[in-house]
Amino acid sequence: MTESIVIDAHADTLLKLYFASLMRFSSQENDPLHITKEYLEEGNVNVQVFAMFVPPKLEKIGLEVTLEMIALAKDLAKEKNFTIIKSSKELGYISHKKESTTGMVLSIEGAIALERNLKILPLVHELGVRNIGITWSRPNLFGEGVNFNEKKTGHGLSKDGIQLLEEMENLGMVIDVAHLNYEGYMDVMQFTDAPFIDSHSNAHSICPVSRNLTDDQLEMIGSADGVVGVNFYPKFLSITPEKASINDVIKHIKYIAELIGVKHVGLGSDFDGIATTPIGLEDARKMKELVPLLEKEGFSSKETSKIMGGNFERVFRKIWK
Ligand SMILES: [Zn+2]
Repeated sequence: MTESIVIDAHADTLLKLYFASLMRFSSQENDPLHITKEYLEEGNVNVQVFAMFVPPKLEKIGLEVTLEMIALAKDLAKEKNFTIIKSSKELGYISHKKESTTGMVLSIEGAIALERNLKILPLVHELGVRNIGITWSRPNLFGEGVNFNEKKTGHGLSKDGIQLLEEMENLGMVIDVAHLNYEGYMDVMQFTDAPFIDSHSNAHSICPVSRNLTDDQLEMIGSADGVVGVNFYPKFLSITPEKASINDVIKHIKYIAELIGVKHVGLGSDFDGIATTPIGLEDARKMKELVPLLEKEGFSSKETSKIMGGNFERVFRKIWK
């Protein structure tokens, strides 16, 4: 078993908890969670990035919904003994096993909450948010996302989007380009020197859906010293999603590692945001099953631990203050 840190760079658990809190019943009765504290422990996951995604219907009150999700995350952290990680040093403590706790990283998916005024950004940072996905799969003030049907490209980042990048860089926040369109990728390359991540996308060459990344996009992440988190959504893994399994996750990891280097690939399950899961990766308890499969595929144990979390750790520690 690997000694180093395991990081899952994307999950939508807070959205399920948010809906459950609105309806005042346990989400587990009707919609079982893929991620719980216990599942993370069983799956050997040390750090979970929890995304805060505002569904299209609630976009008008995006800031309010995001704040409610931060409150839910804080309650969850208290109740279940997660540590909300806000600095490079705190991540280091978990990585060096100086603290036996599970780390929680707060991330915004689609910067809707910041549309009214970018002055909100430092406040959101103060509340603990460390990563921001610029767009979801539709346009917002900052840029344009790819939609789910075509790899159509519109404009890149807006002026506000470029300003968002600058201010995130000043605050020490990680830029997440998942969902962003191709032009947006080009703009991020142009307007930031910092490594950026794509927390939950796969290789278009293996599974040609609009949300997956062309070789060109993967190369941009590699040349920025960033990391791509491989997504477990069956429809992004395989052209026969009903048969998608943990082996398809390995296939995408291998492809990306061979194309841009093993330093640039990690995991971004998308658990609790995906309606179906691949065979063998039904929830966070199964995360540890990836380790022997990666080693069987020829990755050394050092390379395997980089893929399992070391790569995301490198970027997070470089960016966070
Ligand atoms: Zn997403």
